[in-house]
Amino acid sequence: MIVVVKDSATKDQLASFTAWIEGRGFKTNLSQGDNETIVGIIGDTTQIDPFLLESMDIVERVQRVSEPFKKANRKFHPEDTVVDCGHGVLLGGGHFQVMAGPCSVEGANLIQIARAVHASGATILRGGAYKPRTSPYSYQGMGEKGLDLLLEASAELDMPVVTEVMDPRDVQLFVDKKIDIMQIGARNAQNFSLLKEVGKTQTPVLLKRGLAESVDELLMAAEYIMSEGNANVILCERGIRTFETRTRNTFDVNAIPVLHQLTHLPVIGDPSHATGYTRYVRPIAYAATAAGADGLEIEVHNKPSEAWSDGAQALTPDQFSDAMKRIGLIRAAVTAEVE
Ligand code: PEP
Ligand code: MN
Repeated sequence: MIVVVKDSATKDQLASFTAWIEGRGFKTNLSQGDNETIVGIIGDTTQIDPFLLESMDIVERVQRVSEPFKKANRKFHPEDTVVDCGHGVLLGGGHFQVMAGPCSVEGANLIQIARAVHASGATILRGGAYKPRTSPYSYQGMGEKGLDLLLEASAELDMPVVTEVMDPRDVQLFVDKKIDIMQIGARNAQNFSLLKEVGKTQTPVLLKRGLAESVDELLMAAEYIMSEGNANVILCERGIRTFETRTRNTFDVNAIPVLHQLTHLPVIGDPSHATGYTRYVRPIAYAATAAGADGLEIEVHNKPSEAWSDGAQALTPDQFSDAMKRIGLIRAAVTAEVE
């Protein structure tokens, strides 16, 4: 249930109103935007009489929210969330950012790739140090040493890093090392203990859509993080499993505007895992940008044929540079004021 509060309400009135609600055993979520102040009421709101609320002086109107996701719901928080990714990089609410780098951190080539993507306009460096591989016999990542290489590159280039955390027991290490953004990968998209653990931090979380996860399930996964107190969630459409076998996954471009309607959280697109082949990555990056994504995550490798993982979908630095120029043009076209 949401309560829209009148502009004339004072801070004291608002505080006693939320105390009154909380005194009845509910949680509240306050959203103070430029145009409206909204109090979200979380709990079994069938126990609340909306007419009683509407009769209160400070209440403008009351609306029931039927969706099970509350904190992620745009009705609770009409304005876009802007996530502060560190190093002065904001994402969401009109701030478009591109995350780029290798699938896996492999060693000394990381800094080379990082310099190249940074020079082309990428604002966030990606790279996996802990890799969720379908086979236990595939390369599993460099672990902590990989995090350190990312942090060295981050310091040199003054750019935030995003890297995947797979195990709740590693979350504290990521926090201690001041990793800017923790990625939850598609294979862990509904690992609720991991979601709750990252929810207890204030580190931004890049939450990828699960392999066969509906939009509503993705939003409930975000709700797990937010219900623990971390509101810094970025959603990522990275393709879903369908009957199509010509591509690694099927990029659900619909999900971008659908998510923007349902949630205030930023939404980015990952054309690399969505397609699985270098030749399709650029067209799908453009489609995601045109559909209103708040950013992209793209895999780039200096020698894709020698990459330790996902070489088949990596762009070379030159291909990435070309893509960035076109992404800029598309972004300008979709955000331009037209008569
Ligand atoms: C990745 O980003 O390297 C990755 C494993 O992605 P996903 O979880 O989307 O498959
Ligand atoms: Mn990958």
